[in-house]
Amino acid sequence: MQQSKTSDVQKWFPSEDGNAAKRSEFLSLIEQLIRGVDDLKHPDQVNLKGEKNREGLFYEKLISESKIPVSGRPMEDVNEELLKLLHSHPYHTKYFFTNILPMASIPGILGMLTAFMVNGNNLWDVYGPAGAEAEVKVTAMMSKLAGYDAETSGGYTTWGGQGAVYTGLRIAIAKMSPSALKEGVPGNFYAFCSEAAHYSLYKSMEATGLGSDRLIKVKTHLDHSMDTDDLRKKMREVCENGGIPVYIVATTGTTDAIGIDDVRAVRSAAEEIAGDFDLPVPHIHADSALGGFFAFFNDYDVDENALSFSPGVLGMIKAIKDKMQHLHEADSLCFDFQKLGQTPYVTSLFLVKNANDLKRIDLDPEETPYVGHRGYGDYHTGYTLECSRMASSISMYSALMAFGREGYQKLLGQFLEVNLHFREQLIRRIPQADIMNPDNHGMSTLFRIYPEGAPRFADEISGQCTVQELERNNRLNEKLFEKLGANRDKMFFGDTKKHLLAGTREGAEIPLYVSKFFVISPYTLPEHVPQIIDYLKENIEDVCRQFETVTVMK
Ligand SMILES: *Cc1c(COP(=O)(O)O)cnc(C)c1O
Repeated sequence: MQQSKTSDVQKWFPSEDGNAAKRSEFLSLIEQLIRGVDDLKHPDQVNLKGEKNREGLFYEKLISESKIPVSGRPMEDVNEELLKLLHSHPYHTKYFFTNILPMASIPGILGMLTAFMVNGNNLWDVYGPAGAEAEVKVTAMMSKLAGYDAETSGGYTTWGGQGAVYTGLRIAIAKMSPSALKEGVPGNFYAFCSEAAHYSLYKSMEATGLGSDRLIKVKTHLDHSMDTDDLRKKMREVCENGGIPVYIVATTGTTDAIGIDDVRAVRSAAEEIAGDFDLPVPHIHADSALGGFFAFFNDYDVDENALSFSPGVLGMIKAIKDKMQHLHEADSLCFDFQKLGQTPYVTSLFLVKNANDLKRIDLDPEETPYVGHRGYGDYHTGYTLECSRMASSISMYSALMAFGREGYQKLLGQFLEVNLHFREQLIRRIPQADIMNPDNHGMSTLFRIYPEGAPRFADEISGQCTVQELERNNRLNEKLFEKLGANRDKMFFGDTKKHLLAGTREGAEIPLYVSKFFVISPYTLPEHVPQIIDYLKENIEDVCRQFETVTVMK
């Protein structure tokens, strides 16, 4: 047998022929990493073990010391360096409650690994057939879940919920003015979203050249959903002044409070105003980046209750279903798998009800000399803003297959259950705290604390407080942010300085500062809630005590 020649540069690559020696070398490097992370784990705190001092000139030092080595180092040594990056990194233990930063599941990670093993380019099925196949499957699976007709819908994986909002806007512009792609965007186009919407649309308005001044913010109800009467009013104003509404983003699951816009009501408002002014109906995008996964409850039979959810969870599911069943009324939507889909970053799926909408933003064959439009290859995503694309669809496919509908229902149901326990105990045991999103059903609780005798949440939103009162309450909450933030290695809460705007007696609107408990770790269980409340209670009592002493001294 002839000995095949090897070259020194091949050592960095997986084998060509599937030989066992290379496989075991590769596997042991992977094991080194997984074991290394396991050694850093500490289930009773948030951060991984290890020292990391980010104080002082941390980043400046990195800049001055970093340079590429002349000769490369053995991969085992490099692995050790990689593991050092993870020292003291936040990890999704039972005490991780911040925003929507999930753990990557094993199926999600394995899907990524599968994609990396062939490293196809999802731009074209000639370069990345596996990614194309998974993308078509996942698009169909999620279309059916959302209530779209998978035969006529379309979609692709993209760079985040923000990418989906952006592409929705590109389609909206192209629908209203096909020539805009060549000639630029008409200056009288307007877009709408609620005050509780994600800033993705704001950025998209900048990026398309429409300008954020043409983004109209619609008022929200107390449950953070869009006030469609205000939408009607504002669309009407725009139309009366010569503007054309092209795009409405209905947020189906706001990022903080998990308020859900009623897409059906948004559509009927849009149709009514468009009809009155003899205009086409604007493109409606459901920004379901976060909340889209609640559609897994759409077919859950709450009477049968096959998964034995508690009455509280069932109540939440009913309320969620009421809104989510209208998801398919949107012209496009999004599933951020990196949020509730349990896959690694970046795995977002953009869906359009009508696949032909993608053609509106596709490139002309003449403009794509490198790929597509050949006698071979049937799947070329010339309509994406990206050129090369990762095959993140494979990770989504893996998660969908491994979790199944039931798996997602169980996981989301567990998040809801933990949150219900949290809400009940927070109110019962911490008299200084009010819940800011009591009418929202989901895994997030926003809470705000109050100094003794100060006006409470109900007073604040009545518009009858003074600026000084609201600002004083904000200052106390900021103290709590600082205290919880300094100890975030113990329990990691979120916070926001712009929850909602409360009116005042003086007329000014003041944003309310709130802390956030977001259930996102599969390791947080209802039985952990009493300790979480103990911890909060202690910290809240501390900041209140100090705050009142300072105020008395003044
Ligand atoms: C997270 C989020 C986004 C942005 O998604 P990325 O994946 O971070 O780009 C947009 N809209 C909503 C409602 C979100 O929750």
